[in-house]
Amino acid sequence: MFRLAKLGHKLAKLVPQQCMLCLCNCQQLPCSHCRDAIAKFAHRAYGFNLMRWPKVASALKPHSFHRVHAIGDYEYPLAKMITELKFQKRLSCAEALANCFSDSLRGRQHALPQCIIPTPLYPTRYLQRQFNQTVEIAISVADQLELECRLNSLQRVRHTTAQVQLGRDQRLANVADSFSCAVLPSHITHIALFDDVVTTGATMHAMRKAILAANPNLIIEIWAICIALASLD
Ligand SMILES: [Zn+2]
Repeated sequence: MFRLAKLGHKLAKLVPQQCMLCLCNCQQLPCSHCRDAIAKFAHRAYGFNLMRWPKVASALKPHSFHRVHAIGDYEYPLAKMITELKFQKRLSCAEALANCFSDSLRGRQHALPQCIIPTPLYPTRYLQRQFNQTVEIAISVADQLELECRLNSLQRVRHTTAQVQLGRDQRLANVADSFSCAVLPSHITHIALFDDVVTTGATMHAMRKAILAANPNLIIEIWAICIALASLD
């Protein structure tokens, strides 16, 4: 059944699709022209670890992560695809963003994590929205990279205000102790936390803290579609 689903996925890629950004016909979303329009971070220059780029290290201060990967800044066309996925539930944008994310890892020498854990919504918030765009992208990324995507290991245990309206210190206080994590299977030693947009790193820091409390020796990378470098200037 799984193999059939995979075959169906591959066949679907042979059928021309319409690019959600420029509406041209293409084989893979987004089309190659729109993909070229993405201002990608210089992944190779920093050994596929954006913590080595002072601009990102300074944006995430005081947090210091083992390894950080994101495609680019929060701007067109990535921002448009994230917005359409989040507010219009346009699922083709999840696949397109996952395609761009997988592309951005091409050339990485370091071993990939064994599984991805996307940022969860608080249960009542999820029931209200019936949708978590970060989960949709993470599932597609995991499928493309043949990694496990764990949706139930990490939970939000406290309702928090939307981070977007808050400053750096408020964001940290807002998400502190708001996550709880289960003990992961012993074969899992290396994971990636996944979010659509990282701004100050406060949510990632809170998630990492909860995961390490239950799984002390885990290697934890931070993966995101965008790091919003300009938004807190
Ligand atoms: Zn296009």
